[in-house]
Amino acid sequence: MSVIRLRGHHLLCLLGYRGMGYSEEYVENMTRVYVTLNRDGSTVVELVEGPDDLCAKFPCSGDYHCQNESVDARDKAVFRKLGLHVGDTLPWQGVLDRIRAFTQPGDIATLCESCGWRSYGVCEEGVGLVIQGLPLPDLERKASK
Ligand code: SF4
Repeated sequence: MSVIRLRGHHLLCLLGYRGMGYSEEYVENMTRVYVTLNRDGSTVVELVEGPDDLCAKFPCSGDYHCQNESVDARDKAVFRKLGLHVGDTLPWQGVLDRIRAFTQPGDIATLCESCGWRSYGVCEEGVGLVIQGLPLPDLERKASK
């Protein structure tokens, strides 16, 4: 995987990713992205507006929310919070550094108010791990299946 294209809110979703998702294909792809970034913080990410490399595997049969205004607004809010912009390219570690510097676990409640995944608590947990400089859970085994 070379440059990974990511939209704003997915920078946070990746911290709370634990292998759940919208379909088998979606999960396989997201696990691959997650493991790649986790394994090598120098992996370059390009920040994009709208659908990204995770949305690319959103199931056709699902309610395609990837172009909803509320989701775009969430992307913008995350970029603002992290001082990042559409078009920026930076290593994944640079994203983690900004998350550590500019966010708190409680920000998930306001940034992601309407997200159905929020109640699992894993995104707050992920932000907390990054802030403490601790590793995110290892999903490598799942990726190699
Ligand atoms: S609460 Fe939803 S939008 Fe926010 S980081 Fe978690 S999965 Fe992503």
